Amino acid sequence: MNQVDYLRISLIDRCNFRCQYCMPQGTELDYILKQQLLTDDELLTLIQEVFIPVGFTRFRLTGGEPLLRPGVVDLVSKIAAFPQTQDLSMTTNGFLLAPVAQNLYDAGLRRINISLDSLDADTFDLIIGNRGRSRWQDVWNGIQAAYHVGFDPLKLNVVVIPGVNDHEVLDLAALTIDKHWHVRFIEFMPIGNLRLFGDRGWVSSAELRRQISDHWGLTESQIRGNGPAEVLKIPGAQGTLGFISQMSECFCDRCNRMRLNADGWLRPCLLNETGQIDLKTALRHGVITTQLQEQVRELLEIKPEINFKERDSGTTAAYTRTMSQIGG
Ligand code: SAM
Ligand code: SF4
Repeated sequence: MNQVDYLRISLIDRCNFRCQYCMPQGTELDYILKQQLLTDDELLTLIQEVFIPVGFTRFRLTGGEPLLRPGVVDLVSKIAAFPQTQDLSMTTNGFLLAPVAQNLYDAGLRRINISLDSLDADTFDLIIGNRGRSRWQDVWNGIQAAYHVGFDPLKLNVVVIPGVNDHEVLDLAALTIDKHWHVRFIEFMPIGNLRLFGDRGWVSSAELRRQISDHWGLTESQIRGNGPAEVLKIPGAQGTLGFISQMSECFCDRCNRMRLNADGWLRPCLLNETGQIDLKTALRHGVITTQLQEQVRELLEIKPEINFKERDSGTTAAYTRTMSQIGG
């Protein structure tokens, strides 16, 4: 089994976008109340006194939209300063990124993933559920700012939706040719919004690879990611293409991560809530951190048994949280 040393930390469940694949449309989400969010001190205590001692060394900040968290730059600098932190990254929608990209870099963030589902402003706004002034340019500015500041690798996450942005697969893949950018195609998972765009279904990684390969060919990449992505490249390209196939392929045996929700629940698996622990309540009730380490170790022990099986048996009742709430 893989060593589980990678923690995805949701800093906040709120978001300034309402992506159709991530959030249920037409219904309001119950957001976590401010007093229920892990405070900075609680989060830092959990990282330093619970997760690092049990072997976690790589941390990704996500959400919701992590840049909506007040004091996020300060938090980054404190997590980066732990001597055991080997890798600190962030996944963001990029909308608020341009003005803080340099500060994040200076604080110690080195890797960033930005979601970009379309190069066309109208399609982009449709996907993110925006009816006001277009937000595409702000996100593009955020990507450019991150690139110029020196984030490397710079990764762009794309969810392909049939009939919406699937005609842009080659254009998005082409972003990797001249720049050292990594475009990662993520298969849509029916978590937050079971009926995506009126049930258009999803596009498999195999289909995307076929389209790209028919156009340019595809070769193995020397660069391997930390996670479940299959990494390939267009011959001669600077950057790579990642394919994350959680729907068409089960990669539970390679899973190296756990997820800490913004309200302090630790989840062993994205699609399964079995075994999750409420670390915040324990901390607030004065449970000592060595005891919490034990609980996390026990969860690590049973993690191999907790995986996508429920999805494969067609049970979705366990998914009581959306991607934005879990911390995708
Ligand atoms: N707000 C940030 C962002 O969008 O990058 C971080 C949180 S978001 C939940 C993290 C990633 O999850 C995004 O790249 C998004 O595309 C992906 N995601 C959200 N819902 C998804 C779904 N139902 N299926 C596949 N990927 C999804
Ligand atoms: Fe927000 Fe990210 Fe979900 Fe889009 S994918 S709604 S940006 S949390």
